[in-house]
Amino acid sequence: MFSKILIANRGEIAVRIIKTCRRMGLATAIVYSEADADSLAVEMADEAVFIGAAPAAQSYLDSAKIIDACRRTGAEAVHPGFGFLSENATFARALEADGIVFIGPNPHAIEAMGDKIQSKKFAQKAGVSTVPGHVGEIEDVAHALTIAGEIGYPVMIKASAGGGGKGIRVAWKPRDVEEGLPAVRAEAKTSFGDDRIFIEKFIESPRHVEIQVLGDKHGHVVHLFERECSIQRRNQKVIEEAPSPLLDAKTRKAMGEQAIALARAVGYDSAGTVEFVAGQDRSFFFLEMNTRLQVEHPVTELITGVDLVEQMIRVAAGEPLPFTQSDLKISGWAIESRIYAEDPYRGFLPSIGRLVRYHPPQEGEAGQAVVRNDAGVREGDEISIFYDPMISKLSTWAPTRDAAIEAMGEALESFHIEGLGHNIPFLSAVMDQDRFRSGELSTSYIADEFPEGFHGVRPTAFQRDLMTAVACAMHRTLTARAAPQLLRQDWVVIENGDKRLARVAAGGGALTVEFLEDARTLRLEAVDWRPGRPTFSGILDGRRFTAQVRPAAEGFVIRHRAAQARVLVLSPRSAELHEKLPPKMAADTSKMVLSPMPGLVVSIDVREGQEVRAGEAVAIIEAMKMQNIIRAERDGVVKAVSASAGDSVAADEVLVEFA
Ligand code: ADP
Ligand code: ADP
Ligand code: MG
Repeated sequence: MFSKILIANRGEIAVRIIKTCRRMGLATAIVYSEADADSLAVEMADEAVFIGAAPAAQSYLDSAKIIDACRRTGAEAVHPGFGFLSENATFARALEADGIVFIGPNPHAIEAMGDKIQSKKFAQKAGVSTVPGHVGEIEDVAHALTIAGEIGYPVMIKASAGGGGKGIRVAWKPRDVEEGLPAVRAEAKTSFGDDRIFIEKFIESPRHVEIQVLGDKHGHVVHLFERECSIQRRNQKVIEEAPSPLLDAKTRKAMGEQAIALARAVGYDSAGTVEFVAGQDRSFFFLEMNTRLQVEHPVTELITGVDLVEQMIRVAAGEPLPFTQSDLKISGWAIESRIYAEDPYRGFLPSIGRLVRYHPPQEGEAGQAVVRNDAGVREGDEISIFYDPMISKLSTWAPTRDAAIEAMGEALESFHIEGLGHNIPFLSAVMDQDRFRSGELSTSYIADEFPEGFHGVRPTAFQRDLMTAVACAMHRTLTARAAPQLLRQDWVVIENGDKRLARVAAGGGALTVEFLEDARTLRLEAVDWRPGRPTFSGILDGRRFTAQVRPAAEGFVIRHRAAQARVLVLSPRSAELHEKLPPKMAADTSKMVLSPMPGLVVSIDVREGQEVRAGEAVAIIEAMKMQNIIRAERDGVVKAVSASAGDSVAADEVLVEFA
């Protein structure tokens, strides 16, 4: 076994790897860029080596610097995590040449599977069912049109070197091929430095099911069952689970066997993932193989009890796998939610900044369930523009899928983040959806369920009661300090504009809120909150909950899961005055196109007087190294253009105004 391992990565995956190394008694060294000098991973590692400026090309992607860091620290092996150099065969070979072990598969396997056209050829030879299509390079538009016609529309145009959801385009008709081929080629060229393209059948509303495989250097290969990752936006995963609600034992066995056959065909000797798209009828087709640890590996660990990082290290050191296929069993159900610094209310655009508050839920056992949070951040850390905007990966395990979803809902409820936009309300909304609970998933789930985008959800009757009770409890605590004589009167509670008259009383460890109009009483117990705290937990009529709370003018803003309301608690006298106040009008922004995030204007694509249709591109804003196309939300005629290429704009700054 090695004595010291160098981690060529950052953030949550670096922390994840360090945890296993510590448990195994291995020393750790980490490399870091300027942006990560104060990171949790650097703090946790035994040694840290500075390798350069924040842009990845100057640090985490510079293999010479990483090899040099190995020499300086005496590390005998490198764990690359995922992204960066994890699927770079040249890097793996360079390490080998220096006598350093790459904790991943052999370079030949990386090369064979790193290219989608080539891996499809391998898969076909190994007897794996592949997506119908043309297994070869597309020469030009005329060639593409012929192939697409042969396959039958819709088809998918893909970059052979693609990854991370980039370099993919669906074509529904010849015109889309004509437009799409040059676009994918250009994206492939800039993102991957390789513009080879292929075309395959687009499987409509499929499910994404993938098999975790694990091999050693002695010819043993096992699979650790499947994960389903159908909840995606922009072809990128957001919610994953294991096992898959789609598979039956027969399909699971067939998929597992095909994945093992492919792994054997390339002499696979580490942890890897064979991805498939599957139809609702359980037909399935090979997509690609990822020759690395996968982002969503925790769900597999939770249902199998196997530490995948530990096994990667052991097989890299030459140890044989300690189990055979028949030793492996699925236990219970696990779900992972990727918590991203992004704004779910604005098309999931990145929303970066400082984690002014960061309180993840308690990890470990929670009743029958288990909560795990893989994070590389602490309160006060910055989610920078240079890397993936993931904040953490929250996973829950329970004996059944329903219980795991329930546990996820609760864990998300008590996850508190302030300072930047995050997708927790969106993830909560999905957990509460009947369709998600039924397991009828598809990669078009988000588009199907949120066709107009995500705008929060309407509070349920229980949530309205909860918000009222929480507001009354907070108001009571604050009033008891400031003006205890006011505690005896009735209160008017206005929740999202709806008025209710309430009588609030405390005693016997509970707070009761009596609605005077309909003679109903709520009972709030086990309150855990004090002024200034952003989370409020308690038991309302027997149901445990946590709400996110913050003071607002005359009241509070309360969020429970995906529902949010502004709640005012007023004396009857101030309620009367409140009614007489002219309502504050929100500015009418419906006729404006606003920049959804701070960034640089790359171009404004409309001019004054131009007629624009909903969905048409109005501007391109660059933020976090990504060009974001800003589209018109409605039809209209451009009245004024307020920004131009080269301008820096703030979030909500007006770009274009319609007449
Ligand atoms: P997974 O299947 O593990 O979710 P993804 O394909 O989403 O994998 O990629 C995992 C990570 O690696 C992401 O952070 C993604 O940004 C990065 N990544 C994967 N492939 C590439 C690539 N070819 N170029 C740049 N980044 C990549
Ligand atoms: P990446 O390397 O970027 O992860 P993949 O080939 O794995 O690229 O595709 C990413 C996602 O795009 C898949 O998870 C799936 O949702 C969708 N996808 C890819 N190929 C197809 C296809 N032929 N039909 C339907 N959906 C597809
Ligand atoms: Mg993929």
